[in-house]
Amino acid sequence: MAFKIIASQCTQCGACEFECPSGAIKFKGENYVIDPDKCTECKGVSDTQQCATVCPVPKTCIPA
Ligand code: SF4
Ligand code: SF4
Repeated sequence: MAFKIIASQCTQCGACEFECPSGAIKFKGENYVIDPDKCTECKGVSDTQQCATVCPVPKTCIPA
């Protein structure tokens, strides 16, 4: 499993990119995207998904 970013809701603030412990979030093309091959859902690092925690827009970083 991995998380994904709902691009239509993302303000492109960039906060999630720096909080992701897996380096899974990058700005690609016109949107921030989560690489599903790199996303670990923060397992072993945190009980909560860091991207969802820091994102200022509710329900924008969600399970894919
Ligand atoms: S759930 Fe964790 S590992 Fe996955 S993209 Fe979000 S911050 Fe990165
Ligand atoms: S923290 Fe949320 S609003 Fe900011 S870039 Fe990431 S997904 Fe977009």
